[in-house]
Amino acid sequence: MAWLSPSDQKALVNFLRELVQIPSPSGQEGALAQRLAEEMERLGFPEVKVDKVGNVIGKIGSGNRPTILFDGHMDTVEVADYSSWTRDPYGGEIDGRLLYGLGASDMKGGLASMVYGLAALIKAGAKIPGTVYFVGVVQEEPSEGTALKASLQEEGIMPDFAIVGEPSSLRIIQGHRGRMGIIVTTKGKACHASAPELGQNAIYAASRIIFGIELMSSQFLNDAYLGKGSAAVTWIRSESPSRNAVPPICSFYVDRRLTLGETEAKALAEIRSIVIREGANAEITVNEYEARSYTGYTWKVREYFPAWFIPQTHPLVQAGLRAAERVLGFKPPLGCWKFSTDGVYTMGEAGIPTIGFGPGDEQWAHSPDERIRIDDLFAAAEVYAEMVLEIMR
Ligand SMILES: [Zn+2]
Repeated sequence: MAWLSPSDQKALVNFLRELVQIPSPSGQEGALAQRLAEEMERLGFPEVKVDKVGNVIGKIGSGNRPTILFDGHMDTVEVADYSSWTRDPYGGEIDGRLLYGLGASDMKGGLASMVYGLAALIKAGAKIPGTVYFVGVVQEEPSEGTALKASLQEEGIMPDFAIVGEPSSLRIIQGHRGRMGIIVTTKGKACHASAPELGQNAIYAASRIIFGIELMSSQFLNDAYLGKGSAAVTWIRSESPSRNAVPPICSFYVDRRLTLGETEAKALAEIRSIVIREGANAEITVNEYEARSYTGYTWKVREYFPAWFIPQTHPLVQAGLRAAERVLGFKPPLGCWKFSTDGVYTMGEAGIPTIGFGPGDEQWAHSPDERIRIDDLFAAAEVYAEMVLEIMR
């Protein structure tokens, strides 16, 4: 059935324009959260709230199992370079069948489609034997999975299935690589730079380890679906009494992308083996920091986000394919994401069967002139409605 009437479609597009026009960089999602909650109330969601974390939670259905989670993030990255945009990043301009703006694909489009897809079920009076939660989360961009985890724990929500609405070009997504932020700190001995042989240069030790990481990268595991693990040293600093002293401390950050089979312990042990081989004195830690939301809620972020993958034979994947086929008229391709999402928590950490599906294209995420196909918004909304019924069938 066609879940969206022409007037629903018009309202969905207008709603996405509004969402694009409300800036919501990570940490400043308050105004967007209010607008989202207001629209959900207007569309008849029986339960809507903004929780302590600042996430928007909507609930429909009977209250029984199974429980399906629809997950999307409200934050966007900042505009990196205004001069590279030919459209207003906060304009929500429509040109032909495309809507432009920061977050159009990643992922205000997905939020709008999820809300309208679930609202269509309400409007049609569809009988929903289980429970459906929609959660719009804060701060996914810097720390995927963590704000979602905080809300699910605070609210005592235990989903049986999760659907992540990040842009998938209307493919069903089976997983993506995980990531780690690793800090390596080398320790040496300071001395006057005119007699370097009297000290131990922490930058030299760091250099040897960094070179070892670069060489090691070719040997990382390669997964047939998710691809190869990778490492990039992206930040470095040293501490020295002066520029004319041998530095005793040097720290650098490794962005490590993990494929299936690459665990936290494995990634740390690999770097440790280089440190031992080089005879360096170094500390290797997973980066940690405290995040704070716009509501003042704080939580600890530890930068270990595991890879995840769900097999094609899983009933959730099959239900997703059937739902998409019913709307699109064909079985959409399966795929994996290059970027990381809240799936690192749902499936990677909590073991909740998860698929990804959303309007928009991954290639536009974080890119100038970000855009979304308006027709994808309608299709995604209808697929979301069908997914609820297929999963609960
Ligand atoms: Zn995203």
